[in-house]
Amino acid sequence: MNLTIVGTGYVGLVTGVCFAEFGYAVTCIDKDEKRLAKLKSGKCPFYEPEIDTLLEKHLNKTKLLTFEASLKNNLEDTDIIFITVGTPTKTSEDDADLSFVWEVAEEIADNIKKYCLVVTKSTVPVGTTRKVKKIILNKVAQTHFDVVSNPEFLREGSAINDFVRPDRVVIGTENKKSENIMKELYRPLFLKETPIVSTSIETSEIIKYASNSFLATKIAFINEVADLCEVVNADVQQVAHAMGLDKRIGAKFLNAGPGFGGSCFPKDVKAFSSTAKNNNIELSIINAVNKSNKDRLVKISEKIISKIKKNSTISFLGLSFKPNTDDVRDSTSMKIISKLIEQGYKIQCYDPEAMSSAKKENYNLIFFNSAYETCQGASAIIIGTEWNEFRALNFEKISKILKEKIIFDLRNIYNPEDLKEIGFEYYGIGK
Ligand code: NAD
Repeated sequence: MNLTIVGTGYVGLVTGVCFAEFGYAVTCIDKDEKRLAKLKSGKCPFYEPEIDTLLEKHLNKTKLLTFEASLKNNLEDTDIIFITVGTPTKTSEDDADLSFVWEVAEEIADNIKKYCLVVTKSTVPVGTTRKVKKIILNKVAQTHFDVVSNPEFLREGSAINDFVRPDRVVIGTENKKSENIMKELYRPLFLKETPIVSTSIETSEIIKYASNSFLATKIAFINEVADLCEVVNADVQQVAHAMGLDKRIGAKFLNAGPGFGGSCFPKDVKAFSSTAKNNNIELSIINAVNKSNKDRLVKISEKIISKIKKNSTISFLGLSFKPNTDDVRDSTSMKIISKLIEQGYKIQCYDPEAMSSAKKENYNLIFFNSAYETCQGASAIIIGTEWNEFRALNFEKISKILKEKIIFDLRNIYNPEDLKEIGFEYYGIGK
Protein backbone atom coordinates (compact mmCIF):
# COMPACT_ATOMS: atom_id res chain seq x y z
CA MET A 1 0.00 0.00 0.00
CA ASN A 2 1.09 3.58 -0.62
CA LEU A 3 0.33 5.99 2.17
CA THR A 4 0.31 9.78 2.42
CA ILE A 5 0.42 11.52 5.78
CA VAL A 6 -0.38 15.22 6.07
CA GLY A 7 1.32 16.84 9.08
CA THR A 8 4.67 15.66 10.43
CA GLY A 9 4.22 16.48 14.12
CA TYR A 10 4.43 14.00 16.99
CA VAL A 11 1.58 11.92 15.54
CA GLY A 12 2.20 12.29 11.80
CA LEU A 13 5.92 11.55 11.83
CA VAL A 14 5.59 8.63 14.25
CA THR A 15 2.79 7.21 12.07
CA GLY A 16 4.98 7.69 9.00
CA VAL A 17 8.12 6.00 10.29
CA CYS A 18 6.17 3.14 11.89
CA PHE A 19 4.17 2.38 8.73
CA ALA A 20 7.45 2.47 6.79
CA GLU A 21 8.78 -0.02 9.35
CA PHE A 22 5.82 -2.28 8.46
CA GLY A 23 6.98 -2.08 4.82
CA TYR A 24 4.59 0.51 3.33
CA ALA A 25 5.78 3.31 1.07
CA VAL A 26 4.99 6.55 2.91
CA THR A 27 4.96 10.16 1.72
CA CYS A 28 4.87 12.68 4.55
CA ILE A 29 3.63 16.19 3.76
CA ASP A 30 4.22 19.32 5.83
CA LYS A 31 3.78 22.96 4.93
CA ASP A 32 6.38 24.11 7.45
CA GLU A 33 9.47 24.62 5.27
CA LYS A 34 12.00 24.59 8.11
CA ARG A 35 10.58 21.35 9.47
CA LEU A 36 10.58 19.80 6.02
CA ALA A 37 14.22 20.74 5.36
CA LYS A 38 15.24 19.16 8.66
CA LEU A 39 13.32 15.98 7.90
CA LYS A 40 14.76 15.71 4.40
CA SER A 41 18.23 15.82 5.93
CA GLY A 42 17.27 12.95 8.25
CA LYS A 43 16.86 15.00 11.43
CA CYS A 44 13.76 14.79 13.61
CA PRO A 45 12.41 18.28 14.44
CA PHE A 46 11.45 17.21 17.98
CA TYR A 47 12.70 14.85 20.67
CA GLU A 48 11.09 11.42 20.76
CA PRO A 49 12.99 8.29 21.86
CA GLU A 50 13.86 5.84 19.04
CA ILE A 51 12.48 7.98 16.22
CA ASP A 52 15.89 9.04 14.79
CA THR A 53 16.94 5.48 13.98
CA LEU A 54 13.72 4.69 12.11
CA LEU A 55 13.78 8.03 10.28
CA GLU A 56 17.36 7.48 9.12
CA LYS A 57 16.64 3.86 8.15
CA HIS A 58 13.58 4.53 6.01
CA LEU A 59 14.77 7.79 4.50
CA ASN A 60 18.23 6.60 3.45
CA LYS A 61 18.31 2.80 3.46
CA THR A 62 14.89 1.38 2.56
CA LYS A 63 13.86 4.68 0.92
CA LEU A 64 10.25 3.91 1.89
CA LEU A 65 9.90 7.38 3.40
CA THR A 66 9.79 10.63 1.44
CA PHE A 67 8.95 14.18 2.44
CA GLU A 68 7.06 16.71 0.33
CA ALA A 69 5.74 20.25 0.77
CA SER A 70 2.23 19.74 -0.61
CA LEU A 71 -0.27 17.19 -1.84
CA LYS A 72 0.00 18.55 -5.36
CA ASN A 73 1.28 15.82 -7.73
CA ASN A 74 1.66 13.48 -4.77
CA LEU A 75 -1.62 11.60 -4.78
CA GLU A 76 -1.30 9.58 -8.03
CA ASP A 77 -0.46 6.30 -6.31
CA THR A 78 -1.88 6.90 -2.86
CA ASP A 79 -4.24 4.35 -1.33
CA ILE A 80 -4.74 6.05 2.03
CA ILE A 81 -4.31 9.69 3.10
CA PHE A 82 -4.00 10.39 6.83
CA ILE A 83 -4.82 13.81 8.24
CA THR A 84 -2.53 14.32 11.25
CA VAL A 85 -2.48 18.10 11.62
CA GLY A 86 -2.97 19.92 14.94
CA THR A 87 -6.42 20.59 16.43
CA PRO A 88 -5.63 23.14 19.18
CA THR A 89 -8.17 25.02 21.26
CA LYS A 90 -9.63 28.13 19.59
CA THR A 91 -8.28 31.30 21.11
CA SER A 92 -11.69 32.72 22.05
CA GLU A 93 -13.59 29.58 23.13
CA ASP A 94 -13.19 25.96 24.24
CA ASP A 95 -13.99 24.43 20.82
CA ALA A 96 -11.26 22.68 18.84
CA ASP A 97 -9.85 24.87 16.08
CA LEU A 98 -10.35 22.72 12.99
CA SER A 99 -9.00 25.19 10.45
CA PHE A 100 -5.95 23.01 9.66
CA VAL A 101 -8.21 20.01 9.05
CA TRP A 102 -10.50 21.97 6.69
CA GLU A 103 -7.46 23.31 4.83
CA VAL A 104 -6.17 19.77 4.25
CA ALA A 105 -9.63 18.55 3.18
CA GLU A 106 -9.73 21.29 0.51
CA GLU A 107 -6.26 20.32 -0.70
CA ILE A 108 -7.24 16.67 -0.86
CA ALA A 109 -10.36 17.60 -2.87
CA ASP A 110 -8.17 19.47 -5.36
CA ASN A 111 -5.70 16.66 -5.80
CA ILE A 112 -7.40 13.26 -5.60
CA LYS A 113 -6.49 11.26 -8.70
CA LYS A 114 -7.88 7.78 -8.03
CA TYR A 115 -9.91 5.97 -5.34
CA CYS A 116 -8.41 6.38 -1.89
CA LEU A 117 -9.35 6.52 1.77
CA VAL A 118 -9.22 9.83 3.62
CA VAL A 119 -8.54 9.09 7.28
CA THR A 120 -8.82 11.54 10.20
CA LYS A 121 -6.12 10.52 12.69
CA SER A 122 -6.01 13.95 14.34
CA THR A 123 -8.22 14.15 17.42
CA VAL A 124 -11.42 15.68 16.04
CA PRO A 125 -14.87 16.34 17.53
CA VAL A 126 -17.72 14.07 16.50
CA GLY A 127 -19.04 15.13 13.10
CA THR A 128 -15.69 16.34 11.75
CA THR A 129 -14.94 13.34 9.53
CA ARG A 130 -18.39 13.72 7.90
CA LYS A 131 -17.63 17.40 7.29
CA VAL A 132 -14.33 16.43 5.67
CA LYS A 133 -16.37 14.17 3.39
CA LYS A 134 -18.73 17.02 2.54
CA ILE A 135 -15.82 19.32 1.61
CA ILE A 136 -14.30 16.69 -0.68
CA LEU A 137 -17.69 15.86 -2.21
CA ASN A 138 -17.93 19.46 -3.46
CA LYS A 139 -15.20 18.61 -5.99
CA VAL A 140 -14.86 14.83 -6.14
CA ALA A 141 -17.36 12.05 -6.92
CA GLN A 142 -18.25 9.70 -4.04
CA THR A 143 -16.93 6.75 -6.09
CA HIS A 144 -13.41 8.22 -5.82
CA PHE A 145 -13.01 8.17 -2.05
CA ASP A 146 -14.28 7.09 1.37
CA VAL A 147 -13.70 8.72 4.75
CA VAL A 148 -12.57 6.91 7.89
CA SER A 149 -11.98 7.90 11.51
CA ASN A 150 -8.87 6.28 13.02
CA PRO A 151 -7.92 8.17 16.20
CA GLU A 152 -4.41 7.87 17.56
CA PHE A 153 -3.66 6.88 21.17
CA LEU A 154 0.15 7.11 21.26
CA ARG A 155 1.83 8.93 24.14
CA GLU A 156 4.75 11.27 23.60
CA GLY A 157 7.86 9.79 25.18
CA SER A 158 6.89 6.23 24.23
CA ALA A 159 5.25 6.99 20.90
CA ILE A 160 7.05 4.43 18.73
CA ASN A 161 6.37 1.58 21.12
CA ASP A 162 2.76 2.71 21.57
CA PHE A 163 2.23 2.81 17.81
CA VAL A 164 3.63 -0.65 17.12
CA ARG A 165 2.19 -2.24 20.28
CA PRO A 166 -1.07 -0.39 20.91
CA ASP A 167 -3.70 -1.51 23.41
CA ARG A 168 -6.22 -1.27 20.57
CA VAL A 169 -6.79 0.20 17.11
CA VAL A 170 -10.09 1.98 16.53
CA ILE A 171 -11.48 2.15 13.00
CA GLY A 172 -14.67 4.10 12.26
CA THR A 173 -16.05 3.49 8.79
CA GLU A 174 -19.31 3.73 6.87
CA ASN A 175 -18.89 0.73 4.58
CA LYS A 176 -17.28 -2.72 4.39
CA LYS A 177 -14.86 -1.71 1.62
CA SER A 178 -13.08 0.93 3.71
CA GLU A 179 -13.20 -1.25 6.83
CA ASN A 180 -11.43 -4.05 4.94
CA ILE A 181 -8.76 -1.71 3.57
CA MET A 182 -8.06 -0.40 7.10
CA LYS A 183 -7.92 -3.93 8.50
CA GLU A 184 -5.45 -4.88 5.77
CA LEU A 185 -3.35 -1.80 6.65
CA TYR A 186 -3.20 -2.81 10.31
CA ARG A 187 -2.68 -6.52 9.55
CA PRO A 188 0.90 -6.43 10.96
CA LEU A 189 -0.64 -5.48 14.35
CA PHE A 190 -3.47 -7.97 14.05
CA LEU A 191 -0.82 -10.70 13.85
CA LYS A 192 0.36 -9.52 17.29
CA GLU A 193 -3.26 -9.96 18.45
CA THR A 194 -3.92 -6.25 18.90
CA PRO A 195 -7.67 -5.78 19.34
CA ILE A 196 -9.16 -3.93 16.36
CA VAL A 197 -12.39 -2.12 17.22
CA SER A 198 -14.45 -1.64 14.05
CA THR A 199 -17.25 0.79 14.54
CA SER A 200 -19.11 3.76 13.06
CA ILE A 201 -17.36 7.05 12.33
CA GLU A 202 -19.20 8.90 15.12
CA THR A 203 -18.49 6.23 17.73
CA SER A 204 -14.82 6.22 16.79
CA GLU A 205 -14.55 10.00 17.17
CA ILE A 206 -16.23 9.86 20.59
CA ILE A 207 -14.00 6.97 21.77
CA LYS A 208 -10.91 9.19 21.54
CA TYR A 209 -12.36 12.10 23.53
CA ALA A 210 -14.02 9.83 26.08
CA SER A 211 -10.71 8.00 26.64
CA ASN A 212 -8.63 11.15 27.14
CA SER A 213 -11.30 12.78 29.29
CA PHE A 214 -11.54 9.69 31.48
CA LEU A 215 -7.77 9.63 32.04
CA ALA A 216 -7.83 13.34 32.85
CA THR A 217 -10.65 12.63 35.31
CA LYS A 218 -8.52 10.05 37.13
CA ILE A 219 -5.73 12.60 37.49
CA ALA A 220 -8.03 15.39 38.69
CA PHE A 221 -9.68 12.97 41.13
CA ILE A 222 -6.46 11.86 42.80
CA ASN A 223 -5.25 15.48 42.92
CA GLU A 224 -8.31 16.48 44.94
CA VAL A 225 -7.81 13.46 47.22
CA ALA A 226 -4.20 14.68 47.64
CA ASP A 227 -5.45 18.02 48.95
CA LEU A 228 -7.48 16.25 51.61
CA CYS A 229 -4.55 13.96 52.50
CA GLU A 230 -2.35 16.99 53.04
CA VAL A 231 -4.77 18.48 55.58
CA VAL A 232 -5.49 15.30 57.56
CA ASN A 233 -1.91 13.99 57.56
CA ALA A 234 -2.52 11.04 55.22
CA ASP A 235 -0.29 9.96 52.33
CA VAL A 236 -1.83 10.14 48.85
CA GLN A 237 0.82 7.86 47.34
CA GLN A 238 -0.21 5.05 49.66
CA VAL A 239 -3.88 5.80 49.02
CA ALA A 240 -3.31 5.66 45.24
CA HIS A 241 -1.23 2.50 45.51
CA ALA A 242 -3.91 0.67 47.48
CA MET A 243 -6.66 1.97 45.19
CA GLY A 244 -4.71 0.88 42.12
CA LEU A 245 -4.40 -2.69 43.38
CA ASP A 246 -8.14 -2.97 42.83
CA LYS A 247 -8.33 -4.25 39.25
CA ARG A 248 -11.56 -2.34 38.68
CA ILE A 249 -9.65 0.90 39.31
CA GLY A 250 -6.12 0.22 38.00
CA ALA A 251 -2.92 1.95 39.11
CA LYS A 252 -2.26 4.12 36.06
CA PHE A 253 -3.02 7.85 36.00
CA LEU A 254 -3.36 7.95 39.78
CA ASN A 255 -0.20 9.93 40.48
CA ALA A 256 -0.99 13.13 42.32
CA GLY A 257 0.85 16.15 40.97
CA PRO A 258 0.53 19.71 39.75
CA GLY A 259 -2.37 18.89 37.40
CA PHE A 260 -2.58 17.52 33.89
CA GLY A 261 -0.95 19.43 31.08
CA GLY A 262 0.43 18.77 27.62
CA SER A 263 -0.79 19.13 24.10
CA CYS A 264 -3.75 16.74 24.47
CA PHE A 265 -5.61 16.45 27.79
CA PRO A 266 -6.34 20.14 28.49
CA LYS A 267 -7.55 20.86 24.96
CA ASP A 268 -9.43 17.57 24.55
CA VAL A 269 -11.30 17.93 27.85
CA LYS A 270 -12.39 21.42 26.79
CA ALA A 271 -13.35 20.36 23.27
CA PHE A 272 -15.31 17.32 24.53
CA SER A 273 -17.34 19.45 26.89
CA SER A 274 -17.85 22.06 24.19
CA THR A 275 -19.01 19.49 21.62
CA ALA A 276 -21.53 18.19 24.15
CA LYS A 277 -22.76 21.72 24.84
CA ASN A 278 -23.23 22.30 21.11
CA ASN A 279 -25.45 19.20 21.16
CA ASN A 280 -27.40 20.44 24.22
CA ILE A 281 -25.76 17.92 26.54
CA GLU A 282 -23.94 18.93 29.70
CA LEU A 283 -20.93 16.80 30.61
CA SER A 284 -20.95 18.01 34.20
CA ILE A 285 -18.17 15.67 35.36
CA ILE A 286 -15.87 16.77 32.55
CA ASN A 287 -16.67 20.43 33.26
CA ALA A 288 -15.72 19.85 36.90
CA VAL A 289 -12.47 18.14 35.85
CA ASN A 290 -11.56 21.13 33.69
CA LYS A 291 -12.29 23.56 36.54
CA SER A 292 -10.50 21.42 39.11
CA ASN A 293 -7.37 21.32 36.95
CA LYS A 294 -7.38 25.09 36.38
CA ASP A 295 -7.87 25.77 40.11
CA ARG A 296 -5.08 23.37 40.96
CA LEU A 297 -2.50 25.41 39.12
CA VAL A 298 -3.50 28.53 41.02
CA LYS A 299 -3.47 26.66 44.35
CA ILE A 300 -0.03 25.12 43.78
CA SER A 301 1.44 28.43 42.60
CA GLU A 302 0.01 30.24 45.64
CA LYS A 303 1.47 27.63 47.96
CA ILE A 304 4.91 28.05 46.38
CA ILE A 305 4.66 31.84 46.59
CA SER A 306 3.66 31.65 50.26
CA LYS A 307 6.74 29.60 51.16
CA ILE A 308 9.50 31.21 49.09
CA LYS A 309 10.67 34.78 49.71
CA LYS A 310 9.56 37.29 47.04
CA ASN A 311 12.16 38.32 44.44
CA SER A 312 14.40 35.37 45.25
CA THR A 313 15.92 32.94 42.76
CA ILE A 314 14.30 29.55 42.18
CA SER A 315 15.92 26.51 40.58
CA PHE A 316 13.24 24.90 38.38
CA LEU A 317 13.90 21.33 37.20
CA GLY A 318 11.82 19.96 34.31
CA LEU A 319 9.97 22.08 31.75
CA SER A 320 8.30 19.54 29.45
CA PHE A 321 4.77 18.45 30.33
CA LYS A 322 6.11 14.97 31.12
CA PRO A 323 9.44 13.13 30.93
CA ASN A 324 10.95 11.90 27.63
CA THR A 325 9.52 14.64 25.45
CA ASP A 326 10.58 18.16 24.52
CA ASP A 327 6.94 19.27 24.27
CA VAL A 328 6.12 22.25 26.51
CA ARG A 329 2.64 22.92 25.09
CA ASP A 330 0.32 23.55 28.06
CA SER A 331 3.01 22.19 30.38
CA THR A 332 2.21 22.77 34.07
CA SER A 333 5.87 23.66 34.68
CA MET A 334 5.71 26.50 32.17
CA LYS A 335 2.40 27.74 33.60
CA ILE A 336 3.69 27.75 37.17
CA ILE A 337 6.90 29.46 36.01
CA SER A 338 4.88 32.18 34.29
CA LYS A 339 2.99 32.85 37.56
CA LEU A 340 6.25 32.95 39.53
CA ILE A 341 7.84 35.37 37.08
CA GLU A 342 4.77 37.62 37.36
CA GLN A 343 5.44 37.71 41.11
CA GLY A 344 9.05 38.81 40.61
CA TYR A 345 10.94 35.55 41.11
CA LYS A 346 14.05 34.87 39.05
CA ILE A 347 13.94 31.39 37.48
CA GLN A 348 17.06 29.34 36.81
CA CYS A 349 16.02 26.23 34.93
CA TYR A 350 17.14 23.00 33.35
CA ASP A 351 15.45 20.27 31.32
CA PRO A 352 17.23 17.37 29.59
CA GLU A 353 15.42 17.91 26.25
CA ALA A 354 12.88 20.73 26.41
CA MET A 355 15.08 23.83 26.75
CA SER A 356 14.96 24.77 23.04
CA SER A 357 11.14 24.54 23.03
CA ALA A 358 10.99 26.53 26.30
CA LYS A 359 13.29 29.25 24.89
CA LYS A 360 10.70 29.93 22.18
CA GLU A 361 8.17 30.93 24.88
CA ASN A 362 10.29 33.99 25.75
CA TYR A 363 9.71 33.85 29.49
CA ASN A 364 13.00 35.46 30.45
CA LEU A 365 14.33 32.27 32.02
CA ILE A 366 17.97 31.59 32.79
CA PHE A 367 18.97 28.24 31.29
CA PHE A 368 21.69 25.96 32.65
CA ASN A 369 23.25 22.72 31.46
CA SER A 370 22.60 20.59 34.53
CA ALA A 371 20.35 20.30 37.54
CA TYR A 372 23.28 21.11 39.83
CA GLU A 373 24.18 24.32 38.00
CA THR A 374 20.62 25.68 38.39
CA CYS A 375 20.86 25.28 42.17
CA GLN A 376 23.79 27.68 42.53
CA GLY A 377 22.62 30.55 44.77
CA ALA A 378 18.93 29.55 44.56
CA SER A 379 16.54 29.94 47.49
CA ALA A 380 14.47 26.89 46.56
CA ILE A 381 14.26 23.94 44.17
CA ILE A 382 11.07 23.01 42.35
CA ILE A 383 10.87 19.64 40.59
CA GLY A 384 8.27 20.12 37.86
CA THR A 385 8.83 17.02 35.69
CA GLU A 386 9.98 13.60 36.86
CA TRP A 387 12.81 12.98 34.40
CA ASN A 388 14.90 9.98 35.48
CA GLU A 389 17.98 12.15 35.96
CA PHE A 390 16.16 14.11 38.71
CA ARG A 391 15.31 10.98 40.68
CA ALA A 392 18.64 10.47 42.45
CA LEU A 393 20.14 13.93 42.87
CA ASN A 394 22.94 14.35 45.38
CA PHE A 395 21.28 16.63 47.93
CA GLU A 396 24.34 16.76 50.18
CA LYS A 397 26.14 18.41 47.26
CA ILE A 398 23.13 20.60 46.43
CA SER A 399 22.75 21.82 50.06
CA LYS A 400 26.19 23.40 49.83
CA ILE A 401 25.33 25.58 46.83
CA LEU A 402 21.76 26.56 47.70
CA LYS A 403 21.04 29.78 49.54
CA GLU A 404 18.07 28.25 51.36
CA LYS A 405 17.14 24.58 51.63
CA ILE A 406 13.54 24.51 50.41
CA ILE A 407 12.24 21.92 47.96
CA PHE A 408 8.89 21.57 46.19
CA ASP A 409 8.71 18.03 44.89
CA LEU A 410 5.68 18.39 42.62
CA ARG A 411 5.99 14.79 41.39
CA ASN A 412 6.54 13.08 44.75
CA ILE A 413 9.79 11.45 43.66
CA TYR A 414 11.64 11.87 46.98
CA ASN A 415 11.13 10.55 50.45
CA PRO A 416 10.32 13.62 52.62
CA GLU A 417 12.06 12.11 55.65
CA ASP A 418 15.38 11.70 53.79
CA LEU A 419 15.41 15.36 52.79
CA LYS A 420 14.19 16.65 56.13
CA GLU A 421 17.02 14.74 57.78
CA ILE A 422 19.61 16.80 55.90
CA GLY A 423 17.86 20.04 56.75
CA PHE A 424 15.45 20.59 53.85
CA GLU A 425 12.05 22.16 54.22
CA TYR A 426 10.16 19.64 52.04
CA TYR A 427 6.83 20.13 50.28
CA GLY A 428 5.40 17.24 48.29
CA ILE A 429 1.88 16.66 46.99
CA GLY A 430 -0.72 15.12 49.28
CA LYS A 431 1.49 14.10 52.17
P1 NAD B 1 1.83 19.00 15.86
O1 NAD B 1 1.40 20.37 16.10
O2 NAD B 1 3.07 18.46 16.53
O3 NAD B 1 2.02 18.77 14.28
C1 NAD B 1 1.11 19.20 13.32
C2 NAD B 1 1.86 19.37 12.00
O4 NAD B 1 0.91 19.61 10.96
C3 NAD B 1 2.82 20.58 12.00
O5 NAD B 1 4.11 20.14 11.61
C4 NAD B 1 2.21 21.53 10.95
O6 NAD B 1 3.18 22.25 10.22
C5 NAD B 1 1.48 20.54 10.05
N1 NAD B 1 0.40 21.14 9.24
C6 NAD B 1 -0.61 21.96 9.63
N2 NAD B 1 -1.40 22.28 8.57
C7 NAD B 1 -0.89 21.64 7.49
C8 NAD B 1 -1.24 21.55 6.12
N3 NAD B 1 -2.30 22.21 5.62
N4 NAD B 1 -0.47 20.82 5.29
C9 NAD B 1 0.61 20.17 5.75
N5 NAD B 1 0.99 20.20 7.04
C10 NAD B 1 0.26 20.91 7.90
O7 NAD B 1 0.60 18.08 16.24
P2 NAD B 1 0.58 16.65 16.97
O8 NAD B 1 0.98 16.78 18.39
O9 NAD B 1 1.27 15.64 16.11
O10 NAD B 1 -0.99 16.35 16.97
C11 NAD B 1 -1.70 16.13 15.78
C12 NAD B 1 -3.09 15.63 16.13
O11 NAD B 1 -3.00 14.35 16.76
C13 NAD B 1 -3.87 16.53 17.09
O12 NAD B 1 -5.23 16.47 16.75
C14 NAD B 1 -3.65 15.88 18.43
O13 NAD B 1 -4.67 16.14 19.35
C15 NAD B 1 -3.64 14.41 18.05
N6 NAD B 1 -2.88 13.55 18.97
C16 NAD B 1 -1.70 14.00 19.49
C17 NAD B 1 -0.98 13.16 20.33
C18 NAD B 1 0.32 13.63 20.93
O14 NAD B 1 0.79 13.00 21.87
N7 NAD B 1 0.93 14.72 20.44
C19 NAD B 1 -1.46 11.88 20.63
C20 NAD B 1 -2.65 11.45 20.05
C21 NAD B 1 -3.36 12.29 19.22
